[in-house]
Order: sequence, then structure tokens, then C-alpha cells
Amino acid sequence: MAYHIDTGLIKEKFKVDCECPLCEIQKVVEEQFLHEFLNDAVMEDNTRIKVGNKGFCARHFDMLFSRQNKLSVALQIGTRVDNLQKIISDEKSVRAAIKQAQALDKTATTCVLCDYVQESMVKYYKTIAQMFERERDFFKTLIKSKGFCLHHYAELLRYSRSAGFVAKEYVKILGGVQKRNMERLRAELKRFCDKHDYRNALEPLGSAETALPRMREKLYGEKID
Ligand SMILES: [Zn+2]
Ligand SMILES: [Zn+2]
Repeated sequence: MAYHIDTGLIKEKFKVDCECPLCEIQKVVEEQFLHEFLNDAVMEDNTRIKVGNKGFCARHFDMLFSRQNKLSVALQIGTRVDNLQKIISDEKSVRAAIKQAQALDKTATTCVLCDYVQESMVKYYKTIAQMFERERDFFKTLIKSKGFCLHHYAELLRYSRSAGFVAKEYVKILGGVQKRNMERLRAELKRFCDKHDYRNALEPLGSAETALPRMREKLYGEKID
């Protein structure tokens, strides 16, 4: 049985000293899709239809806009607006207007880029579980890791069945790694707080100095500008 996805990027990002290797992987995946949407994908009918139907979330709009190809963004947003105009109308009744509001609410929360990234990330979650089952070295890498942000930890648990007959052991290890690393950060946070007591003013702060930004990564994932 083959892996869902090439394991090279997983191995590479698990070596990075960070609070969540999956955030690192997602950054690469997201960048690939952004590149596609600003180049080849914009020309494909299939993608244009999807962009028209789903559009982009504000975050992905900003990410697309901050890059070079503004024309590409403008063309795609144009397609999206044409679709939205099919919903927006001067209704004859309040009932119909409320229905229009519901339709707009529903379509306002969709994003074609979020969908692609999520679809791709699911393959990574499954592959990581498979690697745990098949690669002894990866087992050690996982145990030594600093855990994950909450979202990615939950995703790994959600797709843990892909570890097959060792799935039970896999979730046990995942939970242990996550708990241990939350405790590590909690202790650093405490050191950071204690330092504000004048009696500890001369104590070295060490790694606790960056406890808050790293806790931010743990709780919400890596910050992407
Ligand atoms: Zn993450
Ligand atoms: Zn999005």
C-alpha cells in the first residue's frame, strides 16, 4: 500500500525546531496553491467555476492581493462578483429578503483556497499516521517533537485510524507528546510571570522570554502575515 503523499516534506518539517511542524507543512502547501491561483489555474474553466461559486475568505484574498499578479486576482474576483450578483436583488417581500440574507451568509463563509488546502492537509494527516505504523525512525521523531498547535493536534487525532493496527498506540503517543509539550510551555509561561516579581528581577529569563508568542502558536497555529 502506498503512502497518500510523498513523505519528504513531513520528514523535513518535523526536524524544524517549532511548536507545530504541521503549520510549517501547511505554509508550503498554501504557498503552492497561491502560486497556482496567481498563474496557471486562473485560465482553467473548472477553477473559474469553483472561484465563482465559493470565492475566497478574507485571509486568502489578502494573501493573493499581497503578491505580484494583481490582474489575476482582479479577474477571479470579477467572476466571484458576477456570481454574487445572482443572489443580490430587490425582493418583493421581507420573507424573500430574509432568504436572500441566509443565502448570502452561506456563501460568505466559503473559500476555494481553504478547501484545496484542507483537502491536501488531510493527505498529510493520513500519511503521518501511516509513517507511524511503518517507519521505526519516524516513531522516534514523533516522540521527540514539541507537539502541535491545537487545530493540527485535533486533526491528527481525527485521522488516526490511518495508523491501522497500531492506531491505539498512535493516539496514546500523540496525546502524551501534546500533554508534555503543553506542560513545557505552561512552565515557561510561569517563569515569565514569576520574572515580573521584583525578587526575581535578576534571575535569567532564558527561553521563557518568548513563551507568549510560542504559546500563541500552540493555541492558534503559526501566525502568517
Ligand atoms: Zn499547526
Ligand atoms: Zn480561505
